[in-house]
Amino acid sequence: MEKKYVIGIDLGGTKINGALADLEGNVISQHIIPTNASEGEEKVLNRIFQVIEKVLTDASKTSEDIKAIGIGSPGPLDAKKGIIISTPNLPFDNFELIKPIKEKFNIPTYLDNDANVAAIGEHIFGAGKGTENMVFITVSTGVGGGAIINGKIYRGNTCNALEIGHTTIEKDGPRCNCGNYGCVEALASGTAIGKRANEAVERGEETSLKNYKELTSYEVFKEAKQGDKVASGILDSCLNYLGICVANIIATFDPEMVIIGGGVSHGGNIVFDKVREVVKERCLESMANACSIVPAGLGADSGVIGAVALAISESDD
Ligand SMILES: [Zn+2]
Repeated sequence: MEKKYVIGIDLGGTKINGALADLEGNVISQHIIPTNASEGEEKVLNRIFQVIEKVLTDASKTSEDIKAIGIGSPGPLDAKKGIIISTPNLPFDNFELIKPIKEKFNIPTYLDNDANVAAIGEHIFGAGKGTENMVFITVSTGVGGGAIINGKIYRGNTCNALEIGHTTIEKDGPRCNCGNYGCVEALASGTAIGKRANEAVERGEETSLKNYKELTSYEVFKEAKQGDKVASGILDSCLNYLGICVANIIATFDPEMVIIGGGVSHGGNIVFDKVREVVKERCLESMANACSIVPAGLGADSGVIGAVALAISESDD
C-alpha cells in the first residue's frame, strides 16, 4: 500500500505543534499542547508521543498510513544521529529523540533544526517553490538560516551550516551572545534594533521612542513609519547590516532567491527596499539581477508545515 501521509512536529520552547498532512501539505488534523520543558526530557518525549497519537486518531489513520515523521527543533542538534545536543530554551542535554519515536511507531523519523526546517518548508510549499537554489534567513530575536542547494537542504559537516547570524560583519562591533564581536545577530536582529532604540532613549535623544516603557523592533518600525527620525536612523543602520549579510549570501551561493522571514521581515517595504538597495551596491550586477529577495510565504504555522516538508523531502530519497 502506498503511504500517502506524513506527520510534522514543531518542537518549541513553549509548545509542541503537530500536524498530519497529505503529500501536498494539506493539513488533515492538528494538535497543539504545551511543551512543559521544565519537566524534563522523558516527559517531553511522552508529550510528543501523545501529539502523534492524537493527530493519527483525529484523522482516522494508523501508523501504517504514515510515510515519515519530520521534527523541527531549536538547535544545536545532530540531525544524522537524531539527537538534540542542547538548546537555550529547552533543558535538553544530548536528548535522544528519533530512536524512541521510530521504535514506538515504526515510522521513519527525521530531525532538523528549526531554521533548516523553515527553509525546506519555504522550498516545498512557500515562496521558494520551484527553485533549485535558494537561501532562507529568519531575522527575529536571533538570525538564522538554511540553504537549498541543487534542490536539497545543505547541512554541512556538523549540521550547522548557515549559522549566518554568527558571521562577523564588523570586526570591532558589539559583543554577541555567542561571545564573538560584530556578528550579524548583534547588529541586525530584532534584538539589536530594540537595543539601539533603548540606547538612543537613554542618551536623551529627541524621539517618540521615549514614550514606550519597553522597546522592541516592533515599536521602532511603528515610529519610523510615522516619521520619527531617530527610529528611521536606527533602522537604516541595522538594515544596512542586514543588506550586507544578504549581499554576502548572494556572493557565496549565487541563489535564485533569498527569502527573509521572522519578525523583522514584517517591517515590509522598509526592510526589503533597504536590503535590495544595499545588495545592488555591493553585489556583482549579474548575480544581484538574477536573485530575487522576497518575504517568506508561509505564515504562523511555518514551523509545523516545515516539519511536514522535512518528512516529505527526507522520505523521497
Ligand atoms: Zn554571534
